[in-house]
Amino acid sequence: MFDVDERRNIPATDRVLGEPPLAAAVERFGRQSVKRVVRAAQQRARKGEISPQNVVDEALRQLPRGAGGLRAVHNATGVLLHTNLGRARLSEAARHALWESAGTCDVELDTETGVRGRRAANTRGALLEAVPAAAEAHVVNNGAAALALVATGLAAGREIVLARGEMVEIGDGFRIPELLESTGARLREVGTTNRVHLEDYRRAVGPDTGCVLKVHPSNFVISGFTSTVEVAELAVLPAPVVVDIGSGLLSPHARLPAEPDANSALASGADLVTCSGDKLLGGPQSGLLLGTAPLVTRLRRHPLARALRVDKLTLSALHATLTGPSTPTAESLRRDPGELRERAEGIAEKLAAAGVPATHETTTATVGGGGAPGVELPSAAVALPEHYEPALRRGEPAVLTRVERGRCLLDLFALDPADDPEILAAVHAARTAPEP
Ligand SMILES: *Cc1c(COP(=O)(O)O)cnc(C)c1O
Repeated sequence: MFDVDERRNIPATDRVLGEPPLAAAVERFGRQSVKRVVRAAQQRARKGEISPQNVVDEALRQLPRGAGGLRAVHNATGVLLHTNLGRARLSEAARHALWESAGTCDVELDTETGVRGRRAANTRGALLEAVPAAAEAHVVNNGAAALALVATGLAAGREIVLARGEMVEIGDGFRIPELLESTGARLREVGTTNRVHLEDYRRAVGPDTGCVLKVHPSNFVISGFTSTVEVAELAVLPAPVVVDIGSGLLSPHARLPAEPDANSALASGADLVTCSGDKLLGGPQSGLLLGTAPLVTRLRRHPLARALRVDKLTLSALHATLTGPSTPTAESLRRDPGELRERAEGIAEKLAAAGVPATHETTTATVGGGGAPGVELPSAAVALPEHYEPALRRGEPAVLTRVERGRCLLDLFALDPADDPEILAAVHAARTAPEP
């Protein structure tokens, strides 16, 4: 405890706020937020928990980590698209685009003529260039919004013909059939859990059919006695064929041969494809509708479309994702297992040399987040004792790992090699982190 005299030395709020690091924090977090942590630090000094000289340092320690209310974390889980970690990591180009469009911008204005222009015409153009089989494109908030717009616009009060084996739950209780029915569309199930034939669809399609929907089971695999109907076969049916490919792969990927892509589905005869923008496409959260001009235009003009509209930030980040350099998601998928092993070995050796009980090993990473189920991606990890997991998770920067057989694995699959030094520093910091 300090005596009363010393407590009188507690610096006044305005003086603390005037200290350069805290003045900078006011610019970033706002005066009220910074004042709150300064008051709390003064209170601790009054109680004798810290010395009055440490009020500034204590306030700095208690500042929020980011002005956005979200904390940046490194994804060392070995799950490339982790829904809890914000799925795809945006490219530098996309991050820059977010910054550029953050002010006022020409999202719905033609600066040449000065009159209102089509919203985000350039993003639409980039999509059509990336998916040549699509005649028209529209962007909404996410994959679920794309499905809601399709169901409402094509089948409200009518039927959606859907295979029983494709009545899927995507995650966290999100069930596609429930979403579709919430729009007022009725589901007409065809086939059995494991098998469906063209004849099943043919019998179900009639005057009350709004569309035939094929949903990619993006988070599980059915094997054994199974049969599904290909898009090309469905295309003969007298109803619009919509394919929810889920992951947003725009063209085939050599490493993910079983993953459907937008261009192939449309080229095979689908009238419409829906997908997410923040899975394998590697962009911001968004939902894409790609397909024939009459169908996409009809949905784009539906009153509900206004409620599902994306903002300038999403549109610009998506444009940069489509036209800019390869995304971090694509880079991870391209990574050579040998290179990953060498990185893991290098980090483990540096740690071991400093006395950290680290080893390296080969692992299996996954795409996750609703993409490429069952695909095992050879990867490599730095292995640490299990107690590093909470320390790394709570550290600054935070590193999310996975615990396997009593060890904490730092899987390098989803990490940029440029971040390796930061990961190394985080492990050193975790070593001395106090128990919470
Ligand atoms: C992920 C997924 C969705 C939902 O997309 P969100 O962007 O998460 O709304 C819908 N269908 C399939 C097949 C998916 O994989």
